[in-house]
Amino acid sequence: LADLQVDGPSLDPARVHMVGGPRGLLVVLPMHLDGWARVVLHRPDGLPPGAAQDPEALVAEAAVRGWTASVRACRWTSTFRTERRLAGRAESRRVLLIGDAAHVCSPIGGQGLNLGLRDAVSLASALPGAGPDGLAAWRRGRRADALRVLARTDLATRAWTLRAAPARAVRDTALRGALTTSAGRRLLAEAVAGPRPAARPV
Ligand SMILES: Cc1cc2nc3c(=O)[nH]c(=O)nc-3n(C[C@H](O)[C@H](O)[C@H](O)COP(=O)(O)OP(=O)(O)OC[C@H]3O[C@@H](n4cnc5c(N)ncnc54)[C@H](O)[C@@H]3O)c2cc1C
Repeated sequence: LADLQVDGPSLDPARVHMVGGPRGLLVVLPMHLDGWARVVLHRPDGLPPGAAQDPEALVAEAAVRGWTASVRACRWTSTFRTERRLAGRAESRRVLLIGDAAHVCSPIGGQGLNLGLRDAVSLASALPGAGPDGLAAWRRGRRADALRVLARTDLATRAWTLRAAPARAVRDTALRGALTTSAGRRLLAEAVAGPRPAARPV
């Protein structure tokens, strides 16, 4: 991934773009409207040496996937590996695991940090005066939440990284259909990012 300031992007710079093509996924996220964007390339076949630090190589890869732009500045580059992991045990003696130490999911859907925060908030309410039964109930609840998020993000990642043309055609037709109605859009958003939390009374 890289934070790039670019000129003349070929796709609307105010929108999020996700392109799931045969060579892997491209995501372009506008950061501000002064040309900065976070560009994320998923490389199913791994990275050639040095490519991750080279914004020009990244933009050349992005161009093959349908997004062209000329780089004015690069603030930051990094790499990450898409994981799907759940710790076998969430506790050892006086240590309780929360956050990415307990579970790691694909970043598609932006769920990892949210899941870790739910661990922390629920633990803060469960801990005072909690006996073994209370902590066991907390662990069961957190494991169920983590399994739901892992299943959802794994499915979304598989769908976005399909490489066979017929499978991508089915996905894109289904997506276009779902995006035409507000119920379809809500369903899709919830399928990726989880249900919207209930509004709190003011
Ligand atoms: C590309 C990408 C995009 C993402 N986007 C989103 C998003 O949009 N929304 C979302 O909710 N989540 C997102 N996530 C997931 C999110 O970043 C993680 O779930 C979150 O950062 C986990 O927080 P954490 O505190 O549990 O662990 P970490 O952020 O990994 O923090 C653990 C810290 O412990 C330190 N540490 C490790 N070992 C030791 C040691 N032995 N001694 C001392 N310190 C140590 C590490 O250096 C690190 O600072 C994304 C992840 C990636 C990779």
